[in-house]
Amino acid sequence: MLATLVMTCCLVGQAGAQDTLGQAPPNGAIVLFDGTSLDAWRSQSGKDSPAPWTVADGAFTVKPGSGSILTRAEYPGDFRMHIEFKVPHMPDATGQARGNSGVYLQGRYELQVLDSYGLDSKNNDCGGIYQQHKPLVNACKKPEEWQTYDIDFKAPVLQDGKEVEPAVVTIHQNGQLIHDKAPIRTTPGGVSTKPATAGPILLQDHGNLVSFRNIWLLPITK
Ligand code: MG
Repeated sequence: MLATLVMTCCLVGQAGAQDTLGQAPPNGAIVLFDGTSLDAWRSQSGKDSPAPWTVADGAFTVKPGSGSILTRAEYPGDFRMHIEFKVPHMPDATGQARGNSGVYLQGRYELQVLDSYGLDSKNNDCGGIYQQHKPLVNACKKPEEWQTYDIDFKAPVLQDGKEVEPAVVTIHQNGQLIHDKAPIRTTPGGVSTKPATAGPILLQDHGNLVSFRNIWLLPITK
């Protein structure tokens, strides 16, 4: 499946932005989902519980009500991450009820997933860092279309357990810059609101049938 994704990789013309759909994991990357198995993930509700979401057609989809899932491993330090997502078409829902999920970096910082196509983006819309930063531009595609996040995450610096430098993110959505070296604080709903030097990736169950595929993480060594 991954090979198929890579072969379908394409460019889009929007503002010259390069879409990264199907981008292959670079050398040294940890593949978090290869299209077939959620073995790298577990249920948030139980350390030994497998992730109960539905895998089909090279992707997986939230199983509403089953709870969020997170990687079994934690990743220390800085990393680059690629993830593809698709929000459902929910014409009768609005706001936070329309295609909501989230990608929690270190399990602590929510990069919002939502159907925000065509809206004047706010902090809590798709591409926002929940309750902190709205995206620089609304780069959203229509619901039912696959989208990409390419994330450069710089871990916070802690001394004696206290944060002395915040985490910083640069993020592209569908090839467009939506956060440029933005300092961030932890957000609610993850594994903890206490800053840490390592953490998992968590994907949010917000009751909507959001799908994900082609997820990899490249640790950055200094
Ligand atoms: Mg969310």
